[in-house]
Order: sequence, then C-alpha cells, then structure tokens
Amino acid sequence: YDDRDGKIWLDGKLVEWRDAQVHVLTHALHYASSVFEGERAYNGKIFLGHEHSKRLIFSAGELGFEIPYTAEEIDAAKDEVLKANGFTNAYVRAIAWRGAGMDMGVASSRNPVHLGIATWEWGNYYGDAKTKGAKLDIARWKRPSPETIPVNAKAAGLYMICTISKHEAEAKGCSDALFMDYRGYVAEATGANIFFVKDGEVHTPLADCFLNGLTRQTVIKMMKEKGITVHERHIMPEELSNFEGCFLTGTAAEVTPVGQIGDYTFTVGNLVLDIAASYEALVRA
Ligand code: PMP
Repeated sequence: YDDRDGKIWLDGKLVEWRDAQVHVLTHALHYASSVFEGERAYNGKIFLGHEHSKRLIFSAGELGFEIPYTAEEIDAAKDEVLKANGFTNAYVRAIAWRGAGMDMGVASSRNPVHLGIATWEWGNYYGDAKTKGAKLDIARWKRPSPETIPVNAKAAGLYMICTISKHEAEAKGCSDALFMDYRGYVAEATGANIFFVKDGEVHTPLADCFLNGLTRQTVIKMMKEKGITVHERHIMPEELSNFEGCFLTGTAAEVTPVGQIGDYTFTVGNLVLDIAASYEALVRA
C-alpha cells in the first residue's frame, strides 16, 4: 500500500502517496496515541461524512488532544483527496496522531498533532461472505470496561486485540472474530457491530462498552421505520443458539450476513437480505 501513485492529504496539503511518511520516533507508534475514521464515498459523496469528521474530533478529545482542523475543514480535505485521486466510490481513512518532537516518554504535550487522509478503492470487506454469510470465530479476548479505556473513541489502542483476534480467526478459516465483553455479554466483531434475528424481530447488544457505529445507528433507524421491532439489550452467549439470523454492520462491512459463529449456524433469511438491500439503496441515494 505504501509505494504507489496517488495523493494523500497530510497536514494541510496533498502529497505524493509514496512520500506520506512518518518518523520512527512518532509518539503514536510507541504509545497508540492515534484516532481514525473509516468512511465510504458512494457516487462521489461520503455517506455521513460530517458525522465521521465530528467523531474523529471527539475521539481525539477522549485521548486528550486537539486536531488543528474543524469538522468542516476535515470534510473539505476528504473531498479534496477523493477528487485528487479521481475516485467516486472509495473508502476514506482519516487519521490523527501525536507525532515526533521534543518528547519521547509517555507524556507528549510538546509534540505536534498530525492529520492524514488517504483514500483507496475497497470492495466487499468480507469478500464473498457479503452474499454467502460470514463465518465468525469467538475471540479469546474481551471488549474492555469503560473504566479501563475510552471505549467510545475510535482509537488505535482499542484495535490491538482486534488484530490478534482477527488473525486467529483467519487461521481457523473464519472471516472475523466475535468479542464478548468484560462481563461476558456478546459485544461486537473486530471492525463491525452485530445484530441477531428471531421471530421477525431484531436483537443487538447495548452499545455500552464498544463503538456505537454510525452504520449501527443508521440501520436501527431504518428498521424501526420499516416497523421492525429492535431490542437493544444485553445478550448472553448462550442465546446464540436461539437466533435464526445474524448480520454485521459497519462502514467497511456495510450490512454483511453471518452464517456461522463457532458451532452455531444461521440462515441468510429475507429480513437480513432486505436490510442489506435497503442500506445499499440508502447510501447510494
Ligand atoms: N466496531 C468497531 C470495532 C469498528 O472498528 C467499527 C468500524 N468503524 C464499527 C464497530 C462500526 O462503526 P461504523 O458503523 O461507524 O463504521
């Protein structure tokens, strides 16, 4: 991904893709002081772009640093980088981090804060699982308590166990891993929220210790408008055997059906297919 043609927006200007480098003594590389966004542009427009810019600023605030750009400036920068690369349907990655400078210890108040925005074309996040249904492994790590880490930030530090778990899942032939939380309730996948279907109603874990995804919020609103009952509640892993359907939501994942979690299987039913199609129509509208 690093040595190719294209433009990346870095600290206020477009630079050549291969020149968008950081120093080895970047604070974020050592201490995970970075926050990011994953967004998708459809037909030239970023879906919920402004909400993503605001969440990026919020996440930085949770980590105690300020991004030196407003949400409106970040919106404009994202549009600029999409245009510079000639993309209309693409993924957009904005990332803000504490850089290299005076401080090399845990404290970093004298180091500059950077903002970078890259974009690339990215098809189905889960490949052919998008239609067939993804297979999930159950992660051996747990989503942490809100008293342990700022769980509502989209921060790099929260992804350490995601990468470990996703690699372990892939080694077992799965697409992703499902986390339980610190209390043992079903939480989320490594980069997507989860929903279950039973008797025409939808159940999803209460987002009280993990990212309340923008896609999750969009899909909940959409289902309620369709008259589908949505229960946001604590879900025990023992309940997995009761559910008929299951799907994941996320900017990259969009709406992806799940066919299997560990030994439990689910059918890719009409409700899930209808939600996936409606989401697709909404983002492209
Ligand atoms: N949980 C995690 C851990 C994620 O990385 C993502 C993707 N950003 C989500 C949930 C879904 O969030 P969104 O719908 O805002 O993309």
